[in-house]
Amino acid sequence: MTPLATILARRIALQGPMPLSDYMAECLLNPDHGYYVTRDPFGRAGDFITAPEISQMFGEMLGLCLAQVWLDQGCPSPFTLAEPGPGRGTLMADILRAIRAVPGMAEAARVHLIEASPALRTVQAQRLGVFNPIWHDSFETLPKAPLYLVANEFFDALPIRQFERHGHEWSERQVGITPEGRLAPGLAPATPLANLAHRLGDTRDGDIVEICPAAPSIAAAIAGRIVRHGGVALVIDYGGWRSLGDTFQALRAHRPEDPLARPGESDLTAHVDFEPIAGAACAAGAAVSALTPQGVMLERLGITGRAQTLAKGLSEPALEAHIAAHHRLTHPSEMGNLFQALAIYAPTAPLPPGFDQAPTERPR
Ligand code: SAH
Repeated sequence: MTPLATILARRIALQGPMPLSDYMAECLLNPDHGYYVTRDPFGRAGDFITAPEISQMFGEMLGLCLAQVWLDQGCPSPFTLAEPGPGRGTLMADILRAIRAVPGMAEAARVHLIEASPALRTVQAQRLGVFNPIWHDSFETLPKAPLYLVANEFFDALPIRQFERHGHEWSERQVGITPEGRLAPGLAPATPLANLAHRLGDTRDGDIVEICPAAPSIAAAIAGRIVRHGGVALVIDYGGWRSLGDTFQALRAHRPEDPLARPGESDLTAHVDFEPIAGAACAAGAAVSALTPQGVMLERLGITGRAQTLAKGLSEPALEAHIAAHHRLTHPSEMGNLFQALAIYAPTAPLPPGFDQAPTERPR
């Protein structure tokens, strides 16, 4: 058992089974043993690789999108350039380089990072220190100013709860212990749940639905600033519209494993359900795009032209790696469709480039 497994098993023996959300929060962010607190998990030698770590083109395209929105909204100065969960700081560095192409934009940007991991804050300080970033523990302390925000693979790290349908009631999936004291999945007794009443129409007995309790309030905090002060938020993650099924997963050394096997030593994520994020942003008065596949968005923003320009300066084997990276980010069989993007923007502003317009009537 990992040190955190021993701690959690002792707590469950004392207090009873815990919801997946508590388990996930402990595994990722426990101050002594949390996955993100104790390591830099990115890259080939780590556990997973994210889009900005695959190629600089990802951040450059998002930077171009932000630049067009900034021009469309009258070049506000100063403005908040924010990223929750900035990892190694690579995406923010690529965005800051790309927006230098627009006169005045980089000078007007004030960099704000929301990061829970002290270890990753240190990595981010090394990468982004010259831009004098300000770190935050939560969205609530972001400045009340125009907000240009990018969140890539942030929402998938937020704790989720899972419910299994039994008739018209729901049983919460929990983490308990075996008689020998090992962590094991469990089910709470079924109860009717008003906040899942709308899911009785599209689920059957035994189906699992997931909710991410923190996501709507984060979306509302972001959207509130955008409505009042202008700006845009680009949310990119793997997931879809209205979650169905068990998407809770653990990755270690690029391989999936049982999420209960090594708490604190593997990355835990769940697919992002964009519907409640879009719903909370709309309720706060913001405009929201349609969910747009990452590959489509990157193509519309010009990734292929950029890839060709960068290819001119490369020879083998770097050229082959560059072509593979372009394919990986955009192709429907790779990240192109698995990852989806949502734009939350000022209601008076045009649709951000790259994104599909939302249907006037959202499907429910
Ligand atoms: N956006 C980066 C990294 C994604 S990994 C990239 O695309 O490469 C998830 C990031 O979110 C890490 O930096 C992790 O430490 C941070 N994180 C996870 N949960 C968080 C929380 N509740 N609050 C703030 N940051 C969090």
